[in-house]
Amino acid sequence: MRTNISMKCISCKRSAEIKILYPFCKDCFIKHYLRRVERVIKRFGLIEKNDRILVAVSGGKDSLACAQSLYLLGCKFSVLYVDVNLPKCSTEKARNLVERFCKERDIPLYYESFKEFFSIENIEDFFKFSGRDLCATCGMLKRRIFNMFARKHGFNKIATGHCADDVARYFFKTIISSDEKMFAWLSKIKPIMHSHHEKIVTRIKPIFEMLEKENEAFIKFQNIENFEKEKCSYTKSKDRIEDILREIDKTIPDFKIKIARYVESMEIKKTEKEKDILECKRCGEISTSDICSFCRILEKIEKNIKNKK
Ligand code: SF4
Ligand code: ZN
Repeated sequence: MRTNISMKCISCKRSAEIKILYPFCKDCFIKHYLRRVERVIKRFGLIEKNDRILVAVSGGKDSLACAQSLYLLGCKFSVLYVDVNLPKCSTEKARNLVERFCKERDIPLYYESFKEFFSIENIEDFFKFSGRDLCATCGMLKRRIFNMFARKHGFNKIATGHCADDVARYFFKTIISSDEKMFAWLSKIKPIMHSHHEKIVTRIKPIFEMLEKENEAFIKFQNIENFEKEKCSYTKSKDRIEDILREIDKTIPDFKIKIARYVESMEIKKTEKEKDILECKRCGEISTSDICSFCRILEKIEKNIKNKK
């Protein structure tokens, strides 16, 4: 965020208080932010009359910015806070501030946790046996909770705070990996992922074209407190991509928005595997193979317990 006393707001010509892409005063920045979110919502038909929307809010700047913009745009929705049972990512503070945010705006709030929802006693074991980094496993569990919870409670859309920075990160990761499966997954980071099965709830990303820096400023200007989590050990692989993004950012500050727009318009081919929608033989949830990744981890844990006996 850059500010310069002598700068004028591009919109009202009063003194600018912020410059991320263009100089703005506080009021014009908030208006400009909301206008862009509204444009994405309309362009992709993210929200329709009679939708029952569940917004996933972790207490971080992005999910709060998503919830706050929907609130200011007059949308009706409920919030789901998920405790991921990881000390660096879920804290009493995060939960309290989400509670306060919802209470002040009269937004219904639901609370779930990995341990309780999945009846997993030893969540650390679950992460250990997943064989993937913490964030990847956590993401899989979160997607599963959001989908199962929304279905159970009659929500037809789940809104998340994924923004242009997430799109750019995933896009670069995909290019670097040249993995065909990852290219197919690019469709999952589009602004709307329509349900293609009765067990899948449509997912929307209202702040898809916004930058993390803009989300941060948007909530700060409205005195909304957010939870800044510590960097965890699993962020190492993310950091390489972050370095590349930071470098490009210096000369092309809006390039992440350009990538997001490019992803919006991309025709994404599905892999052969993706075309087959299967139901997991063990839990009945949607999977791309006979047994879903969640149940495969449970099986590994069970095998390990048996071997120990
Ligand atoms: Fe989960 Fe990673 Fe986010 Fe922490 S940073 S909540 S582990 S996805
Ligand atoms: Zn399963």
